[in-house]
Amino acid sequence: MLRFATLAFLLLLATACARGQAKTSADNAIDETYHHQFRHIAWEEVGRSVENRPIYMAEFGDGDDVTLFFTCFHGNESSTPRFGYEFANLLHNDPTLIAEGKKVVIVPILNPDGLVHGTRNNARDVDLNRNYPTSNWGQQPGRRGHVDFGEAPASEPETRTVLKLMAEVQPDKILTVHQPRKCNNNDGPNGLALAELLAEYNGYPVEPYIGYPTPGSYGTYAGKELGIPMVTLELPRGTPDSAAFDEMWRVNRDGLLAFVNCNLEDLNEAE
Ligand SMILES: [Zn+2]
Repeated sequence: MLRFATLAFLLLLATACARGQAKTSADNAIDETYHHQFRHIAWEEVGRSVENRPIYMAEFGDGDDVTLFFTCFHGNESSTPRFGYEFANLLHNDPTLIAEGKKVVIVPILNPDGLVHGTRNNARDVDLNRNYPTSNWGQQPGRRGHVDFGEAPASEPETRTVLKLMAEVQPDKILTVHQPRKCNNNDGPNGLALAELLAEYNGYPVEPYIGYPTPGSYGTYAGKELGIPMVTLELPRGTPDSAAFDEMWRVNRDGLLAFVNCNLEDLNEAE
């Protein structure tokens, strides 16, 4: 409890600090809160951010049916990193929770610069969920009126880290976690069935359309254009040290396992 409160305080402090590659108090808080607390898990560095912070992944299970799982696409969605770490911790503590033939690859902090600075975007002020090489990339300015989809498709090292990881692990389905819209948003074939599967556990609405255009988004890229079944899970509001977090973890935990362990063929039959 105290650890997350301290993190929130130090993140606030860090926004006043000069941006750069030197470790800030917020970096130290994140090290303590996440990297230290979950150091028993076998993390592997898969890439680096604009400001050269490492991006870590961990792998659980050894099957051929692979789920790719991302949290903290947006640095200001404060509960999502803990959500990713809690899922990794759950699988680490009980490997039997993963069914035979399944594997999950977890990246708990895709946007470490945004997390340190408390911003939605990365350190170059690019929205990492608008930077993908889709046919509609760059067609719309960012929500604050300025262009935040990047200089070119996949211009950002965080985006390229995702693309590299996808080439390596060849995911069969993808789950990304955001805040705070409280819904299960789907893209790609079988995405709707997967969103409905999550909804059986978390009770959040299934929203095939999030409510505004998202050109260059990861869902458009991986789901719609590459045809990989995908769900964007939008958690409700709540900080990582709150009762709201405990509730969002409680209602989603078994749904995450069902997502990883399901057979897409069986979902088709149920439709
Ligand atoms: Zn988001």
